[in-house]
Amino acid sequence: MRIERIALSGFRNYDEETVSFGPDVNVICGPNAQGKTNLLEAVYLLTGAHSFRTRFDRELIGFDCDWASVLADVESAGRDQTVRLLFKRGQSRQVTVNGAKKTSASLAGLMTAVLFSPDDLYLIKEGAAARRRLMDSAIGQLRPGYAALLADYNKLYESKMRILKDWREKPSLLDTLDEFSDGLARCSARMIRYRASFSERLAAAAAPIHRDFSGGREELGLRYVTVSTVTDTHAPAEEIYRQVLDHQQAHRQAELEAGQCLTGIHKDDLDISINGVAARAFASQGQTRTAALSLKLAEREIFRTETGEYPVLLLDDVLSELDAVRQEFVLNRIGGGQTLITCCEDEDISRRTGGRVFSVREGRIR
Ligand code: ATP
Ligand code: MG
Repeated sequence: MRIERIALSGFRNYDEETVSFGPDVNVICGPNAQGKTNLLEAVYLLTGAHSFRTRFDRELIGFDCDWASVLADVESAGRDQTVRLLFKRGQSRQVTVNGAKKTSASLAGLMTAVLFSPDDLYLIKEGAAARRRLMDSAIGQLRPGYAALLADYNKLYESKMRILKDWREKPSLLDTLDEFSDGLARCSARMIRYRASFSERLAAAAAPIHRDFSGGREELGLRYVTVSTVTDTHAPAEEIYRQVLDHQQAHRQAELEAGQCLTGIHKDDLDISINGVAARAFASQGQTRTAALSLKLAEREIFRTETGEYPVLLLDDVLSELDAVRQEFVLNRIGGGQTLITCCEDEDISRRTGGRVFSVREGRIR
């Protein structure tokens, strides 16, 4: 999968501009606030998703413009396609592929991208919710049944929470408590199996990437952590279900007292370590960036195995805080598909990469 050419009109700070990208590494450099991230945002929109910076399409339209368009030639599954996105104030976006009207959602099958932005550092440093989101969104894309399961789980969870909060005022609510716990345990058992196998694939793919990235100095470890009574996350769902239920029953009284769901897969986590030490507590800034990027690159490998094609890789501002060895890895050794990298370093960059270099100034690209 590859983006060959993109033309922007009235998009963010781009008036009229066209760029042709190379098939592998493309480095987009320039000082702050020139339009580097805006260009990645335009590429990302071709996947049919919302922008990674805003939920409002109207923000994409240039301040002095009535509409914005992104026109791109992409190669997907060996076929050349022309995608056009049109954003008009007060209207929903219009999508065409080779001139025919399409829905935004249908673009997902045509063009996929993996994005790494500085925000992704939360993957390593913040609470478990960020790592669960990573699992949920990746598995959701790979396994259609998973998203439905997650939606069911969330509904049951909400209902159980309501009972635990309000049972003192309305004791009759307790009649259905065990029913919801049972439903949650059933969903959990199936989700645990999905999450366990995804985590293993992610760990296996991320470790060699991280090793290479750190010049052989670091070993990235990743371990799926779930409900403590589960002895084998790959056991048949029925067995996991009983173990999750045991855990819930053991915490029934505590949950009633706390008015909260204390047990369940909504507390799952991925334990991430670097050379055996917990990354969340001890990783340096460079290590954090390296580990987060290794996870994203691993996700891309898994995606490639599943679909046969590498998604386009968009790396926004990853070079800062990386030493020379790690920068060299990003610039030259992320193999496979097409990569677009933004950075603030300048002229010197073209001597350090074999890829194409673009320079962005005030919405113009050279
Ligand atoms: P940095 O290195 O700081 O990340 P950047 O090159 O990635 O900078 P962008 O985020 O691409 O910068 O933004 C460049 C400029 O685009 C900003 O100054 C911003 O004000 C401007 N901009 C954003 N949205 C619009 C819009 N809808 N219309 C016009 N200009 C916009
Ligand atoms: Mg930027």
